[in-house]
Amino acid sequence: MQRRKFFRASLGAASAALASTVVHARPNLEPAPQAVGMLYDSTLCVGCKACVSKCKEVNGMPPVSMGDQVQSDFAMDLGPKTLNVIKIYTDGKATVKDSEKDGFAFEKRSCMHCVDPGCVSVCPVSSLTRDPLTGIVSYNADVCIGCRTCMTGCPYNVPQYDYDNPIGQIHKCQMCNQKGVERISKGGMTGCAEACPTGATLFGSREALLAEAKRRIALKPGEIYNYPMGDVRKPNKFHEKAVPQYQSHVWGEKEAGGTNVMHLSAISYDKLSMPPLGERSAASISEGVQSTVYAYMALPAMALGGLSWIVRRNTEVANQDEGDKT
Ligand code: SF4
Ligand code: SF4
Ligand code: SF4
Repeated sequence: MQRRKFFRASLGAASAALASTVVHARPNLEPAPQAVGMLYDSTLCVGCKACVSKCKEVNGMPPVSMGDQVQSDFAMDLGPKTLNVIKIYTDGKATVKDSEKDGFAFEKRSCMHCVDPGCVSVCPVSSLTRDPLTGIVSYNADVCIGCRTCMTGCPYNVPQYDYDNPIGQIHKCQMCNQKGVERISKGGMTGCAEACPTGATLFGSREALLAEAKRRIALKPGEIYNYPMGDVRKPNKFHEKAVPQYQSHVWGEKEAGGTNVMHLSAISYDKLSMPPLGERSAASISEGVQSTVYAYMALPAMALGGLSWIVRRNTEVANQDEGDKT
């Protein structure tokens, strides 16, 4: 068989095998049966960073200093010593809160505790795991091999690698429930929700938080509302405030399969640098393709079968040609 013909035949066989392989993407994972999370309402946030300081205290992380000023935390973004950060959107004169034009708005960034987490899906050694009951996405440094694949699997750019540490480690919010902290499993709430003076960060079950978020969206702008603080299921305080004109959707209800940490805002989420995401989780698509291709080695087996058939057919044709000549 001529080399060119062989390559053409190989390509054809592989293409035919690929085309006839039906890719079964698995569905998104459902929220865990007792999923817990947080609701961050940007319109309630005053940018005080009490949540940032409390997060550092709970996790035993030092503040990011600026010169000799070490009393405040100057972290501008997530990092190996910063699991929670408050960012700001500004436009023009930046004088009107929660306005896209000439305004400003706050945005809290920490792990979203995705319902179908990409970081968990891509980690080759299961160092990142989703709790089957609470949905909390945890990290086990003892298992981690420092490959940083999780950083590529997260749509929110959350896992942070400590390049200054000779053995390297990933750092991300574990919803205050890792070994030695265990606030949630002991019936408490997250540090950031506990410290927040306005209820902008609220803890609770995902179900109750989602209901609270939808209740707020349905309120009439300008109406006075008592915003619960701490744990939405048993608030110990309320923050009375006029209702803003909310965006009409809760970020995290459905994005990429949904998240346990959800956000509300009065300005569009893209202004708060939220990534453009559809409803399908990347994990459901990639795991579906992998399982289809590797299930019973379907694709390689089909390609090999196609090539064998072509070689046999050409051998038969060649033999027939030889017979005709003699
Ligand atoms: S936000 Fe990123 S790090 Fe957090 S659970 Fe989702 S994929 Fe993982
Ligand atoms: S839940 Fe805990 S670790 Fe996560 S951002 Fe809040 S305080 Fe930090
Ligand atoms: S503690 Fe509450 S109000 Fe203060 S920055 Fe954090 S989320 Fe905003």
